[in-house]
Amino acid sequence: MDVPTALIALQTCDLEIRRAAKLLDELPEKRSILETRHKSEEVRQLKGKAEELVHRLERAIAANTDEVAALDEKIAGVQKTLDGGQVTNPKEVHNLSREMDALKRREDKLDNDTLSLMERLEKAREQVAKVDTALQRLSTRESELIAAYRLKGGEVQSDLEAHKQQRAELAAAVGDELLARYEAAAAAKGGIGAARLLEVACSACRVELPSERLRELREGPDVGVCPNCRRLLVVRGDDASE
Ligand SMILES: [Zn+2]
Repeated sequence: MDVPTALIALQTCDLEIRRAAKLLDELPEKRSILETRHKSEEVRQLKGKAEELVHRLERAIAANTDEVAALDEKIAGVQKTLDGGQVTNPKEVHNLSREMDALKRREDKLDNDTLSLMERLEKAREQVAKVDTALQRLSTRESELIAAYRLKGGEVQSDLEAHKQQRAELAAAVGDELLARYEAAAAAKGGIGAARLLEVACSACRVELPSERLRELREGPDVGVCPNCRRLLVVRGDDASE
């Protein structure tokens, strides 16, 4: 394929790609998929917080349990001393009893704390489970939406893929230097970077060119530049126009 033909075909192909991409973009399922993903992200954050709370409570309960075990040992030690009968001094016996009471009070307090921590832990675990269920529901919903999107968009999608493949071939035929100029012009001019010279006017901007400019174009290369809109202008050599 010669360069002018490839350039015009590339322009047509790019418009087809844009049209297909826009169609895909505007499918209502796409919006719903994005909304579902956004919601999932929010729920995942909630789950993270709930799990963090579960871990914190578990650690607090474990710490309490350890402390109670240590207190049990101390209490048993004091009890042993009291039972052993070596301590006979009433004041010392009194002090040991008081120590024992203090240890037991501490233990009671820890036991009560542990109970309320366990209640909170149960609630936090329920919250994690609830959030998990919500996440699963959202994930199912997302899969359904993706399936619907693929079904509806399948034809457009394969059309898009075919055009992308075609574009790669056309871009190669156009060549790097001209391709870069075309892409720059297309980016600056609403997606239309190449036009044809039709008789005396540019097919893109439709402006009739003065005869001096026309003469320059016709004496120049196959692909020139429109003096009015600055798009690439195929002066001759495009199969489709001949
Ligand atoms: Zn023009």
